[in-house]
Amino acid sequence: MTKFTKSFTQQEPIPEAGIERAVEVMRSGRLHRYNALGDELTETVLLEQEFAAYNGSRFCLACASGGYALHIAMRSIGVNSGDKVLCNAFTLAPVPGAIHNAGAIPVLVETTDDFTIDLVDLEAKAAADDVHYLMLSHMRGHLVDMDRLMEICDRHGVSVIEDCAHTMGATWNGRRSGTFGKVGCFSTQTYKHINSGEGGLLITDDEEVMARAIMHSGSYMLYDRHTVGPAPEVFAKIRFETPNYSGRMDNLRAAILRPQLSDLDRQCDRWNELYCALEKGLRAIEGVRVPLRPEAEYFVGSSLQFSLPELSAEAFARFIRRCEEQGVQIKWFGDADPKGYTSRFDSWRYLGDAPALPATEKVLSTMCDIRLPLTFNVEDCVVIATVISEVLSETAHINPAG
Ligand SMILES: *Cc1c(COP(=O)(O)O)cnc(C)c1O
Repeated sequence: MTKFTKSFTQQEPIPEAGIERAVEVMRSGRLHRYNALGDELTETVLLEQEFAAYNGSRFCLACASGGYALHIAMRSIGVNSGDKVLCNAFTLAPVPGAIHNAGAIPVLVETTDDFTIDLVDLEAKAAADDVHYLMLSHMRGHLVDMDRLMEICDRHGVSVIEDCAHTMGATWNGRRSGTFGKVGCFSTQTYKHINSGEGGLLITDDEEVMARAIMHSGSYMLYDRHTVGPAPEVFAKIRFETPNYSGRMDNLRAAILRPQLSDLDRQCDRWNELYCALEKGLRAIEGVRVPLRPEAEYFVGSSLQFSLPELSAEAFARFIRRCEEQGVQIKWFGDADPKGYTSRFDSWRYLGDAPALPATEKVLSTMCDIRLPLTFNVEDCVVIATVISEVLSETAHINPAG
């Protein structure tokens, strides 16, 4: 039996340029984003300028985490306590958590066989009179038809926040994810596309939304230090009525991120090379379904999802366990018991009784999720596909009906 030996959670080291700059920041002692000498532009400000330019957005705010960015994005567009916020049922725990943190109520939307939000269910739920917001997760990098989604949301007066934790660098019809909705939120946590341990970035073109986000993030009255923020007059309107939810980024993290951002497009191509190699191997295996990616989507293949629609739950649990024994870590959202980073909508019990979401449940019951860190190479992807193929043929013997 083939065995794979590399770690699925090992990222690449921080680029030397980032390490050197981080050491300089530490030597300077000026780690706080507003601790500048004269009109010096701190690393945090430079990161914001560069990330806004990368996305072609007017404004950018760096903050403490991706989940934090989602929270203040909602507060900044006017989500109030008790408001309903639509969101994908297929997402990760920080998303419903951020909605709950804003005092709002998540309304979960069904999932398609291609792992995107179901636009038919979205339209039905967006039509309700008391629904005005959508928190859209581009979950695991799958972009839904953004033209159709925006048309539906515009028609029903629904404001969109994009959770781009898995789509930094991705585009739909040439337009960057995060620039379709009112606000785009990104994470720089270790397992995302640029790595500062923890961190978040928020972009928008709306000056009042950005002014509120900056105040919420903990700017005190130093908001004029934000070079990619709105003019002081905009803050004058909101500065006494916007609470400080302290969650800034610091210069150390920003210093680590800047060289990674310069290299992001090249890294995305490397991820896609791995994705293509693994996809090719999986497509050759009978019983494996890999979603077709639309022409309009430029995705970042930092992870790959496929389904095994014919396996029973019992055979599935065995398949996952056997792959693990052969060194291939597959995450299974269909598991009755949530494990590691993976949990399903019915384990967010603080939301009350889990809604009926039969399509999502069916999709997740046979979906496999594999991380592809850049410490892998194309040959590794061939080995992973071989392990999956060998384990599946084992499983076929004990599950002949499947
Ligand atoms: C990681 C992640 C987040 C939150 O990012 P943090 O920086 O870890 O708070 C939000 N949404 C999704 C889909 C994620 O995977």
